[in-house]
Order: sequence, then C-alpha cells, then structure tokens
Amino acid sequence: FFNEKHPAHRPRRDSLDESHLCPPGNVRGMEIVDGVDGLIGNTPLMRIRSLSEATGCTILFLNPGGSAKDRVALNIIKTAEDEGILHPDNGSTVFEGTVGSTGISIAMIARAKGYNAWIVMPDDQAKEKYQLLEKLSATVEKVRPVSIIDKKQFVNLARTRAQEFGKEDSNTTGAIGYFADQFENKANYDIHYKTTGPEIYRQTGGKIDAIVLGAGTGGTLSGISTYLKSLIPRLKVYLVDPPGSGLYHKVKHGILYSPFEAEGTRRRHQVDTVVEGIGINRLTQNFDLGFENIDNAYRATDEEAVKMARYLVREDGLFIGSSSAVNCVGAVRVARELGPGHVIVTLLNDSGQRHLTKFWSDDYLRENGIAYELSKDDTVDTIV
Ligand code: PMP
Repeated sequence: FFNEKHPAHRPRRDSLDESHLCPPGNVRGMEIVDGVDGLIGNTPLMRIRSLSEATGCTILFLNPGGSAKDRVALNIIKTAEDEGILHPDNGSTVFEGTVGSTGISIAMIARAKGYNAWIVMPDDQAKEKYQLLEKLSATVEKVRPVSIIDKKQFVNLARTRAQEFGKEDSNTTGAIGYFADQFENKANYDIHYKTTGPEIYRQTGGKIDAIVLGAGTGGTLSGISTYLKSLIPRLKVYLVDPPGSGLYHKVKHGILYSPFEAEGTRRRHQVDTVVEGIGINRLTQNFDLGFENIDNAYRATDEEAVKMARYLVREDGLFIGSSSAVNCVGAVRVARELGPGHVIVTLLNDSGQRHLTKFWSDDYLRENGIAYELSKDDTVDTIV
C-alpha cells in the first residue's frame, strides 16, 4: 500500500513552517446547531497535499460544505428579514436568477424558513442542479442563455417575475415576491467580508501571501480580499478566469473583453466553457466593491480545469466542481509566480456531485469536442 510517489506518503518539505495554521477541529465547536441554516459558515481550511508538494507552497482550500453560496443566500434572506421585507412563514416567494448554486442555496434556506423559491436558470447547466432544485420544491424556470441586455436573460427575468408576483399576490395574501439579486445585492459581498475573510485570517494566523479566485458575481473575491487586505496590506490578490469571460482582459488592460464574443466563435448553446458558475462580461456592484484589490490575473483553459479535477481525485481523493478546479489551476500559477515557501488560499465552491453529467461526464466532453484525458504520467507540471 505504501507508495512513495503518492503525496500522502512522501515526506513533507521541511522548509514550510505551518505551525501557525489552526489544527483541524478548532474551527467549529462540537455544539448542536439549530436547523440546516445553523450549519452554514465556520468552515475549515485544508491543505491540498498534492499541489503543495508539487509547488513547494502551502496551498489551502476553504471547504465550505454544500456550497460557497450557502452563506450568501442565508445573508440575503436574513438581511431582507431584518429590513422587514420578508417575514418567516408568510408564504412569500424568493426569486433568483442563477446558474444554479445560489438558487440551490436559496431553495434550501427557503424550505427551512417557510418561503417558496422561484429559480430562473439558463437551460444549459448540469441537469443534477435542476433535479436538486426540484427535490427542494423550488419552481424552476429554464431560459435560453442570452445576452445580459436581453429582457429574457435569467437575471432580468427573475427580477420581472418577482415584480409580477408582487402585483398579483401582495394585496390579497400579504405574501411578497422578493428578488434576491445576488449580482447587485451587497449582502453577498458583506457576508464574505464579515465571515469568510475572518475565517481564513483566524485559521492561518494571518500568514497568507496570496488568495486566488475565479469570479461570477465577484462577491466572494471582493468581500474576502477587502477584509484580508485591510489586515495584510502585502497580500497579493489574483483573479483566475475561464474561457469566454471578459474579466481577465479588464484586469490586464482596463476594459472588459471576451475573445469568444468578439470572434463570434461561441460554442454550442453559447457556452464558451464547460466550467459553470464563474466568468462574466460585466462588472457587478459586488465585484466593483473590491475590483481594485486585484493585483494580477490568469486564464485557465477547459483542458487545465478538466485535468486538474481528475488529478486531484486521483492524488488526494478530492472530488471537486468545475469552478473549484479553475481555482486550483490558478493556485498553481500563483505558486509559480511567487516561488516556493508561500501560503496561497483558494476556495472549494462546490463538489463534483453537482457536475456529474457535464464537467465530470466523459460522454458530454466528447460530444462537445473537449474530451481531455488525464494520462497516468501527468503531473502538476504537465497539467498547468
Ligand atoms: N463557483 C460556483 C459553482 C458558483 O456558482 C459561483 C457563483 N455563481 C462562483 C464560483 C463564483 O462566486 P462569486 O459569485 O462570489 O464570484
């Protein structure tokens, strides 16, 4: 069983002083929490053995449990309750436009608190996300992926549906339609500033050299980086961007630019990438709040993301989703830029289980001409 090539069996590099890292178990006490929302937040960092060994850096993953969006959805709903907009048990409906994760988190919390959830999603996402939403008894409305300026774009349609619901129902039943609006709602940024950032700081004793993240709404990147940079001014913040997204160009050259859109070479179903949840061609309010924190940006290809995910399950038993794989590609690029001995933090956004029929499906990849196979000789250096 002992295999000296396996990361778990190789001796650790002496050069890394990880004594400041909080040992596992100190993160969440052993208290009994109240309901499913009580489980959200306070998540542990884990060291990714294979990538840390390969780069000589300490590469840490914040593992947020179900989804990084759970805490965002909970804060959006709690903030609306605090403002007197939503009341538990009044049968109100929370509307959201989402590629899935935020919708699933909203549907879960809505169930736990007695609201209904109405989720508008593009129709090209992994089908297990729609199935999960249906099991959580959300209303799911699928739309064709179209430009953000189109009224039928998923975010715009969710806003319209919330307004329509308000007109029809609020006078008779008191129930309202509340548009969660993860892209523009500052409760998204706030929860990462107030919880995710401090959790990372506490667990590392503030000894972090860099964070690296992909972005969708940008709430995670802006919230975490603003908090951490306020305490660690020398911290480097990196964006990692999937194919088709305009953010890389924005960081590098100051303007949003998507090569796929410009060249008219979008893939089937207008999907530029097999990666779900990150990549965007506009700056949302949540992103704008922390965009200036970004020091540098990298791109990640589908091939790198697909191979990275397969590599991590082979080496570490880590079964991750597509945006988390992009984050890990970014972490390796950052490790190369900074050199050995640095501490780099990234995030696990969700598990591979939400991506079985697309990112993790060899059939899907083959049908879309992006069948990348991990060979047994592949290493971190051949993948990224
Ligand atoms: N990964 C996944 C799976 C997501 O759904 C999202 C959000 N759409 C992100 C990453 C990016 O997070 P943020 O919106 O905070 O930029």
